[in-house]
Amino acid sequence: MNGLNIKQTDSAYIAHTYARFDVALVRGKGSLVWDENGREYIDLAAGIAVNTFGYADDVWADCVAKQAATLQHTSNLYYTEPCVKLAQMLCERTGMKKVFFSNSGAEANECAIKAARKYAAEKKGQEYSTIVTLLNSFHGRTLTTLAATGQDVFHKDFTPLTPGFVSVPVNDLAAAEEVFRTQKVAGFIMEIVQGEGGVMPLDKDYVTGMAKLCEQYDVVLMCDEVQCGNGRTGALYAYMNYGVKPDVVSTAKGLSGGLPLGATMLGEKVEAVFTPGSHGSTFGGNPICAAAAISVLERLDDKLLNEVKQKSTLIIETLNGQPGIEAVDGMGLMIGVKTKKDAGDVIKKCLANGLLVIKAKDKVRLLPPLNIPQELLTKALEVLKEAAKEEQP
Ligand SMILES: *Cc1c(COP(=O)(O)O)cnc(C)c1O
Repeated sequence: MNGLNIKQTDSAYIAHTYARFDVALVRGKGSLVWDENGREYIDLAAGIAVNTFGYADDVWADCVAKQAATLQHTSNLYYTEPCVKLAQMLCERTGMKKVFFSNSGAEANECAIKAARKYAAEKKGQEYSTIVTLLNSFHGRTLTTLAATGQDVFHKDFTPLTPGFVSVPVNDLAAAEEVFRTQKVAGFIMEIVQGEGGVMPLDKDYVTGMAKLCEQYDVVLMCDEVQCGNGRTGALYAYMNYGVKPDVVSTAKGLSGGLPLGATMLGEKVEAVFTPGSHGSTFGGNPICAAAAISVLERLDDKLLNEVKQKSTLIIETLNGQPGIEAVDGMGLMIGVKTKKDAGDVIKKCLANGLLVIKAKDKVRLLPPLNIPQELLTKALEVLKEAAKEEQP
């Protein structure tokens, strides 16, 4: 790699789907990461809520290395222990009944949607195929999860998308009920905290109301916990903060702490919909990804989750009402900061001052590793506060 110009070569050979920051990262440890020039950054992005315990965490790395040196992949034609153990852990900690493993958030949602449609087809008839989703949502980049995503900006030039999706406004029970009443609905999917949509937690009354409506109309209730799951909000899964019981929970991002793993958890209503041959994934339940996820879940205990809540309070109290900061939204360590200045400019200034933060809509989004030391978090917030201040003329 000596002499390789990373940025030029990237531009020459990698499809131009990403507007990358002007920095090439080469190594990390915990909540710190270094670029090709040896510059240090505090990371409040965690690879978009993926690196649950930061970079090169000792326990995580050891677990991955051991599994890699033992059995890295078998295909789903054979039994392996790590994915079985992981599925058992997920079910025991959520009350869900079965798990299907895949490799990404989009695939976890594809499986959720397939489960809802298959349930409805068998129970109510093939014509019950409509999936109700929320405006401002994000569910992935495949043609079906794009159809579920209630933001037109992602659809442009990719139509026709998978048919059978209807998006309704957030926190509007009547709008959803109208669709439930007048169309043949199979399922309803929501992010408890809309991530890409600007880090917006849904209203509690809305979530509990939707759970009731789904029960009343026998509609499969799906929670997309790809971003807000796995301890991110201070509960193992965000729906647990709202006292509802979804029929399907999909997750990915933070589940395996930095390796690609999607999981679709199926509750009582849909646990039996899939039969041999009805769904599959070559890499799904890969032993290394599963072993890593076991080590992540083992550490997401009450103590850690309480620390997430405490750090959340620290962030909100430190930033609320500060010069240049208009609002702080979110839940746990999933925070959106509305700044007076353009969020992109604030983010660039943070980068220049050694802090990685990202954007969600018009906000600065914070998704730190869940175990970020308090001193580093405090230091990072000082950088952010300084960057958000408006320059005096
Ligand atoms: C990131 C995200 C996805 C898509 O996950 P991929 O792993 O990129 O496919 C789906 N839903 C939500 C809520 C997300 O945040």
